[in-house]
Order: sequence, then C-alpha cells, then structure tokens
Amino acid sequence: MKINLLNYTLEQLGEYFESIGEKKFRAKQVFRWMHVYGVSTFEEMTDIAKSLRSKLQELAEISVPELVTEKIASDGVYKWALAVGNGNKIETVFIPDGERGTLCISSQVGCALECQFCSTARQGFNRNLTAGEIVGQLWWANKRLGKDPKGEKLITNVVMMGMGEPLANYENVIKAMQIMLDDNAYNLSKKKLTLSTSGIVPALDKLGRDCPVALAVSLHASNNEVRDKIIPLNKKYPIEELLSACKRYLANSPKDYVTFEYVMLKGVNDDLIYAEELIKLVRGIECKFNLIPFNPFPNSGFESSSRNQIMKFQKILQNGGLITTIRKTRGEDIDAACGQLVGRVMDKTKRQEKWGVIHLVN
Ligand code: SAH
Repeated sequence: MKINLLNYTLEQLGEYFESIGEKKFRAKQVFRWMHVYGVSTFEEMTDIAKSLRSKLQELAEISVPELVTEKIASDGVYKWALAVGNGNKIETVFIPDGERGTLCISSQVGCALECQFCSTARQGFNRNLTAGEIVGQLWWANKRLGKDPKGEKLITNVVMMGMGEPLANYENVIKAMQIMLDDNAYNLSKKKLTLSTSGIVPALDKLGRDCPVALAVSLHASNNEVRDKIIPLNKKYPIEELLSACKRYLANSPKDYVTFEYVMLKGVNDDLIYAEELIKLVRGIECKFNLIPFNPFPNSGFESSSRNQIMKFQKILQNGGLITTIRKTRGEDIDAACGQLVGRVMDKTKRQEKWGVIHLVN
C-alpha cells in the first residue's frame, strides 16, 4: 500500500525523504505544495525534479477526503459529509462569522464516550481517524472555500469539536494539530486552534506538555452526581481531578483561561442552584463560561432549557464574576450544530475500551 504523505508532520516527512535516499529539504517543498498550495498530485509540484516526482508517484500518495454530501444552511454554515472508507462517514462544519471563519473538525468515526445528550455518541464507535484524515478536513475545506477577495483564506480558526473525543485519539490528533500550526502548512496560531474535551485527565496533562493549544472543557455540571449521569467518563475522572488538570494546563496554555462548555438541559443541570455551585467550584481557575442551548435530535430524551432560564443562569454566573456567553446556535436547519453531527458509523467494533481511553505513552 502507498504511504499517505498527509499523515506526516514536516519532521516526519523529512525522515521519510531521507529513508528513500532524498534530501531532507525537498520534504519542505513537498509539504508546502500539499498544505500551503492545496495540491494533491505530484505532477503539479513543478519545482520538484521529474525523477523525484515519479519516485514519489510509485511509493506514496496524497490521499484527500472524498466528498459525499455538501449542505449549506440559511445562515451560511457549511456541513460536509466525507467518506473515510468501508462505508464510514464523518462530518466537518464551517461556520462563517464576520471576519472570522471557524472550521469544526472530527477526530474519530463515531465516539465511545456515551455522553447522554450527544447524537454522535448514539452511533457508537468505529475507529480513530488518521492524522491525514484529520488535517485532510482542513485541506479539503480550504480547497472548497477558496479565498476571500483580499486573497486571504476564509478559515481563521479551527476547533476540534466535531465527532469524537480528540484526546481519545491522542497521537493522531497531536500530529494533525502540529501540521495545522506549522508555518510551512496552515500557520494557525495556538490561540486560534481549540481542542474540546470531556476530560481525559492524563491525556490533558500530556497535551499541556506536548502541544498546548486553546482549551475548551465540556463541564456540563456543577457536581459529580449530575455529571456522572450525563457524562459516564466522569466516573473515571471526577470533577475535582478534571479541574486540577485545568489549573495545571493553564501554566503552559497559549490562552490565559479555559473555556468551560455547559450544555443547558431542562430539568437536568439548569437549576439556578447549580449556577451558584459553579461559581464556588471554579474559584481560583481563570475561565470563561460558554452556555450551549441543547440542540435536539430524534429520541434524545432531553429538552433545551428555555431562553429565559439560560439568561437567568448566565446572569448569576456573571454576578459571580465569571465571563459568560451564550453560544449562538448555527447551522441548525442542516443539523450542523453542536452534538448533531452523525456521519455514518458502520461496524461498531468498539475496538477501544469503554470510554475510548487511550493507551497513553508514559
Ligand atoms: N468530545 C469533545 C468534543 C465534541 S463536542 C467534547 O466532549 O468536548 C463539542 C461540544 O458540543 C461539547 O461540549 C459537547 O458536550 C457539546 N454537545 C454535545 N451534544 C450536544 C447537543 N445535543 N447540544 C448541544 N451541545 C452538545
């Protein structure tokens, strides 16, 4: 089988070139062709010697995602379903917002975490995406969207908030993020690349050491009793441990705060008592709150809190000194909102252990 060069960081591509008897600096040229110029064939790499191009042609490939469907919402949000082999599909979402364009990227086919309010969880888990499949979503979206009239790329921010738990696919997610940050590729700043996690504590610590990017944490509850019910992973890594990890993370974080996501579920976690409890809970942690109105899906068994309740909840947090925003729901008419991404998961092998807990090195 040919090697997919999209899987390699610049460092690894250099090593690969050496292993096939080529000069390392050629790797940089090829890397730039792929990621800066969005090229997917070796023929297009015109400043590379013909002999090297045909050698690469024989040994390697640039395997980019294959589009299954494209939907465009009335508010300008795009949702793409991309094929990842064996009938599996993932979803990627582009959210334009004035000067900012955010791409929401998937990290796994399905998810093993079983968060009760998330439709991706209902599908089960098939497999981790490769680094090439993860960064390939950015490659694809840049290609599809083109540039604005000033010649700038439309994607200014990336969030690892699509299907899957990014920290359960640690190695590949880190590699993909390193490519996104590389100035010979997408040149994203660490502040504009956000990873969202349900809270796999050891992996979060490792992320702080290996590749600290902006951090969002799916908190969704102010105590273990409620969180245990909606996020089974909490039984393994309870709130106190998660919050300590957030504090440790802040020491290396490119942003000086953590964003806590809080999905507003009617009658589950939206009592105003919980807002008071949150204020005490996060004392001493630099953070912002982002309240997310629950996005419904068939047979979810949950309802969103009313607008009024969400605003009251927000007010209490704000009075407690916490910067709190309410997430604008985008792309709703094409099911592209948070927690609505489903793609297609064939053959739920559940190869990961329950909760998708990764085999961490160290
Ligand atoms: N697995 C990662 C990233 C995926 S989801 C994580 O858990 O953080 C991105 C955000 O959407 C998470 O905060 C998630 O809890 C939230 N979410 C999931 N389902 C939702 C739904 N139905 N409505 C609103 N937000 C939801």
